Amino acid sequence: MALDTDETEVPYHQLFINGEWCDAEGAATFDVTEPATGRLLARVASASTADVDRAVAAARNAFDNGPWPHTPHFERARILHKIADVMEERAFELAELESRDVGVPIRKTTYNDIPLGLHMMRVFAELARRSPYEPLPWNDFPTLTWSFVWRDPFGVCAQIIPWNYPFCMAVWKLGPALATGNTVVFKPATQAPLTSIELVRMIDETGLLPRGTINMITGPGGSIGDYLVAHPQVDKVAFTGSTEVGRRIMALAAPHIKKVTLELGGKSPTLLLPDADLDKAIDGALFAMFYHAGQLCEAGTRCFVHTSMYDEVVERMVARTRQLRIGDPLELETDIGPLISFTQRERVENYIRIGREEGARLAIGGGRPVGALYEQGPYLEPTIFTHVDNRSRLAQEEIFGPVLAVIRYEEIGDAIAMANDSMYGLAASVWSRDVQQAIEVAKRLRAGTIWINDHHMLNPHAPFGGFKESGIGREMGVAGMLEYTEPKHIHVDFQQKRSGKIWWDALLPPEHEE
Ligand code: NAP
Ligand code: MG
Repeated sequence: MALDTDETEVPYHQLFINGEWCDAEGAATFDVTEPATGRLLARVASASTADVDRAVAAARNAFDNGPWPHTPHFERARILHKIADVMEERAFELAELESRDVGVPIRKTTYNDIPLGLHMMRVFAELARRSPYEPLPWNDFPTLTWSFVWRDPFGVCAQIIPWNYPFCMAVWKLGPALATGNTVVFKPATQAPLTSIELVRMIDETGLLPRGTINMITGPGGSIGDYLVAHPQVDKVAFTGSTEVGRRIMALAAPHIKKVTLELGGKSPTLLLPDADLDKAIDGALFAMFYHAGQLCEAGTRCFVHTSMYDEVVERMVARTRQLRIGDPLELETDIGPLISFTQRERVENYIRIGREEGARLAIGGGRPVGALYEQGPYLEPTIFTHVDNRSRLAQEEIFGPVLAVIRYEEIGDAIAMANDSMYGLAASVWSRDVQQAIEVAKRLRAGTIWINDHHMLNPHAPFGGFKESGIGREMGVAGMLEYTEPKHIHVDFQQKRSGKIWWDALLPPEHEE
């Protein structure tokens, strides 16, 4: 994985199908570049639908005929820990690669993303120890039986992830699927596939997974992703990405009634209650919004502030935002790196125009930072709009960039109602000194994760996912693992005597004959 600056010597990454690294059909490739500089980082195989067929066939064969679905759960746990051991050895190298590929500041990848990915793999390894056997309550009607649930793996899982948080996302897709005995065809995002590819390489290097258990295809989602999702030999689709593509995935999965789990977009609120500790809440709301330049699905993009402190909060937020350091993602001091692409910056700038047209007031930002460094990549200033109407497009549509909407409220009930007035329901945070009150507010918010006096804290033991159009199903924790299993009820009859059976519902016993 040498990161060579000479474009002729950049690494080339192949597809991984049936335990072999191989070229795509026709040796097609695409380029992967560094958002901060536009520099070429790697060439990656660009799969065709024929390659998808090969990958699905390998996963199908590994599931139907291979040992993995029947490998004892404690053995699967041991193997996942071995994978985590390899990940641990390469943590710093992975942090740098992730920063280069995504443009995310290295402080985040070094101290959060890669260690969290590793922690997640350890947690999935421990969860893998959970027995597939689940006892059921005693039941003696209509006859005495021993009934239990056996958790089967689901089968061949298609897993597709976006570019914004790739390493952790790859772990939280592959980890639970493997822990429960599934086989996988995995597709990373075209814009940032590199740490996902390294994860698959590390898994391969352990030599512990049967051939075909994991397969990886890289290439354009619009063609091969589509084809993969619709493939009749795929049993389950686990997708993370935009709500728009999520809708299409559901439609593609419908003809074969495939199991689908979707982790989609968000427009998450941060609620600053009147008694919030502003020293923490102001930094907290900015962290919620500007972490990774707002390119996180759970970003706190709508900040609800009580009218009694609105002006003070805005003033302090603006002052604090002025201190944020926009810069090279590989510098430890950088708070905000570039966006993923110039196209994404245009999209975000378009929303800044929309905000102005809608009458929101620009309190800070809204432009591109000036300086030689910023010419090289799609940098954008952290931007705050005040006096935003919650029904405006700025407050309703996912922007996926560093644009905060600050919204005034009079009563806590109004803040809750506006927070819930969104097609999304991924996450929220509540800021208050009164934890009991904050919990009452949390209970009334329609979102999958609510943080109290914090934001962005992912916990691999906790279910993560969205209400409403933010998704279906959950990832992580026991709930996330169970999404990769089919519960099978096994009923063992204990009634030894034929006369004791209640078959007479349908078959009268012979002794009843006149
Ligand atoms: P995206 O455009 O939906 O793409 C996500 C993935 O789907 C990529 O691998 C993409 O491939 C692939 N894809 C695109 N079209 C497809 C199709 N028709 N069929 C199958 N796969 C297809 O999303 P993005 O722009 O990469 O990521 C940003 C979005 O992800 C945001 O909306 C964000 O909120 C969401 N997100 C959600 C969560 C969550 O947990 N809820 C977490 C992170 C991000 P290509 O890369 O080749 O286009
Ligand atoms: Mg990239």
